[in-house]
Amino acid sequence: MRLYMFYFVGLLFIQCDMPYKGKHTEEKSVNKEVLNPSENFGLVIHGGAGTILKKNMTDSLEQAYRDKLEEATKAGHTILSNGGTSMQAVTAAINIMEDSPLFNAGKGAVFTHKGTNELDASVMDGKTLNAGAISGVTTVKNPINLAVAVMNKSEHVMLSAQGAEQFAKEQGLKIVDPQYFYTERRYKSLQKIIEKEKTELDHDTKVSFMDPFIKDSKYGTVGCVALDKYGNLAAGTSTGGMTNKRYNRIGDAPIIGAGTYANNASCAVSSTGWGEYFIRGMVAHDIAAMMEYKEITLQEAAHTVIQEKLTKLGGTGGIVSIDRQGNVAMEFNTAGMYRAHMNAAGDLDIKIYKND
Ligand code: ASP
Repeated sequence: MRLYMFYFVGLLFIQCDMPYKGKHTEEKSVNKEVLNPSENFGLVIHGGAGTILKKNMTDSLEQAYRDKLEEATKAGHTILSNGGTSMQAVTAAINIMEDSPLFNAGKGAVFTHKGTNELDASVMDGKTLNAGAISGVTTVKNPINLAVAVMNKSEHVMLSAQGAEQFAKEQGLKIVDPQYFYTERRYKSLQKIIEKEKTELDHDTKVSFMDPFIKDSKYGTVGCVALDKYGNLAAGTSTGGMTNKRYNRIGDAPIIGAGTYANNASCAVSSTGWGEYFIRGMVAHDIAAMMEYKEITLQEAAHTVIQEKLTKLGGTGGIVSIDRQGNVAMEFNTAGMYRAHMNAAGDLDIKIYKND
C-alpha cells in the first residue's frame, strides 16, 4: 500500500511538471527568465503586401494607413518597454489592425464567394514552441485572441469553424454578429471580381486578388513579430483570407510554419501574400530553419526564401521577422508592403512602398 502511495505521489509530481500544452501560460514562461532581463527589445508589424503603388494611393488614404501602423506599433512597443511579453505585444498590435477597416483582418476582412467573411489567425511562442490557430470563424471579433486562447487554454493547436466559435464563447471572447464584418468597400471588391470572372473564361487566378480600393491587387493580412526584454520571441498573423475564396478555403495565415512561426533558437516570422504558395514553401519555418541550420543571418535567410525560393515557385508576398538580437528583416517581392518597426530606443520606421 505504502509503495502504491509513493508511486501515486511521484506520478502527480511528474504530471505537474509535464509540458502539457494547455498549461503553458505566457506569464509562467516569463517568470522563469525574469532574472536576466535585457534592454534589447523591438517589434515589426505588417498590414499586407501587394501591388501597392503610390500612383494608386490618395494622400489621405496613405496617411490613414501610416497612422494606423504607427498606432499599432506604438501599442506593442509600450507593452514591451513596460516589461510585457512578446505575445502580449503581438496581440495588442494585431488587435488594433483587426479593429480597423483598412486591413484584411477582423473588421476589414474580405468576402468569400458566398458573400460571407471567414477569418483565420495563428500565434506562436518562440520560447515554448507552443502555438494556437483558428480558421473559418465568422463571429469572433478578434481572431488573434482566439488563437491565443487555443494556445493557452486548450490542449489543441488548431480549431476550425463552429467548433472554434463554440470554444471562443466558452472562453468569454467577444462575439459579434457576422454583419459586423460587412464593409462596403470589401463587398464592392467581391462584386467586381465576380463580374470580372464572368467575362474571363479561363478564371485567371490573379483576378481574385484585385482590390479596387487601391485600384490594384494586394494582400491585406496583418501580422506582428516581437522580441521582449526576456529574450523571448513571438509571432502572430490574422486575416480574412482572399477575396472570392470558395469551398472554405484556408490560407497560410493559420498554418504554423507557413504564415506564422517563432522559435527562440532562430527568429519569429509573420507572412502575407498568396497563401497557397506560402503553404507549399513553408515560408515562415523555412526562414527560421535556414538561419538555424545554415547559421546565416536573418536577413540572408529571409532574402533567400522570399526573393529566390518563393519567387521561383511563382508566389508573391512578403514577411516581417525579428531575431533574438533584435535584428529585423522585412522582405517582399511585391511593389509594396505596409510595414513598421520600432526598436528599444523608440526609433519608429514606417514604410509602404518598395523604395520608401
Ligand atoms: N496570405 C493570406 C491568405 O492567403 C492573404 C493575405 O496575405 O492577405 O489567406
